Amino acid sequence: MKVAFFDTKEYDRKFFEPYSADGLEFIFYDTKLDENTAGLAYGADAACVFVNDDINAKVIEKLNTYCVKLLALRCAGYNNVDLKAAAGKIVVTRVPSYSPHAVAEHAMAMLLCSVRRVHKAYNRTRDFNFSLNGLTGFVLHGKTAGVVGTGKIGGAFVEICKGFGMKVLAFDKNPSCGGAEYTDFDRLIRESDVISLHCPLTPQTRRMINRDTVAAMKKGVIIINTSRGELIDSEALLEGIKQRKIGAACLDVYEEESDLFFEDNSGHILNDDVLARLISMPNVLVTSHQAFLTEEALDAIARTTVENIRAFFERGITQNEVVLH
Ligand code: NAD
Repeated sequence: MKVAFFDTKEYDRKFFEPYSADGLEFIFYDTKLDENTAGLAYGADAACVFVNDDINAKVIEKLNTYCVKLLALRCAGYNNVDLKAAAGKIVVTRVPSYSPHAVAEHAMAMLLCSVRRVHKAYNRTRDFNFSLNGLTGFVLHGKTAGVVGTGKIGGAFVEICKGFGMKVLAFDKNPSCGGAEYTDFDRLIRESDVISLHCPLTPQTRRMINRDTVAAMKKGVIIINTSRGELIDSEALLEGIKQRKIGAACLDVYEEESDLFFEDNSGHILNDDVLARLISMPNVLVTSHQAFLTEEALDAIARTTVENIRAFFERGITQNEVVLH
């Protein structure tokens, strides 16, 4: 079986290459999968994709013409796949859980970095500037964390917050986490000192953080997003920061990230004014969709993706399939 991998980096190849044996042949492409690059999947039995590949109806049509039978997502989220178009044409599988702690710990790493101004202090002391002016932080113990989405990652984040002595308010359409006090979204928005997003991107959750919700938040609130960029209306976020309503933002994802993140753009002029302005703010921390990036997660992603591919082609079983509801 031939598998065409899209949007791969050196770290992906390192973890997948050991599985390229016993009838599995991998072809790694740097480029993302979209309408213009779908032809690279010609002759492959499966296409393996990541979070910023754009698997729209036209791409699915092309893959179907090339007889590509399986779309193996090497990630948990699947908002970038047109499942309606895929139904009956190509089977879609994903890695539902690879290391929830990797993402939850990154969310807390960003929060701690932000509230104790570690990013500022790091830059200063490298320049032998040992001044403390402007580095005053605050204590998380006793503060309220609002967690939106308490599945595997949100649940792990709840536990971490409780370890810090925080009170945890949670909102989820299917409450399942023992350690949090569930409430409605409005109260969570109103009463939280820290709001962390851990729900998937769906039509219901798209831009759940917008001008109205920002207006209802506590002054000085910290917003963390390690889920999907489109959960936040970035212009509303920027406005909230400029008005001093939002105390800090920790963003591992951004709504227009697909043409920027995972690449070195340091020699280019950034065309995205909102992102440029956000990054220029002293209280905004941006990482480029790296919350998952741990040895443990990469290992689990490769293992489960290969299991999904082998189960489908060798045993006719579709495991971890993504189906349209
Ligand atoms: P999960 O399925 O275990 O949990 C998602 C939770 O969100 C569920 O409990 C679900 O009931 C809840 N939910 C769904 N719709 C909701 C709504 N409208 N309102 C409130 N809650 C809702 O998923 P997970 O493994 O915890 O992952 C969460 C998200 O994290 C993924 O969808 C993905 O977008 C993101 N993610 C990011 C990275 C990264 O590197 N930054 C890595 C993995 C996953």
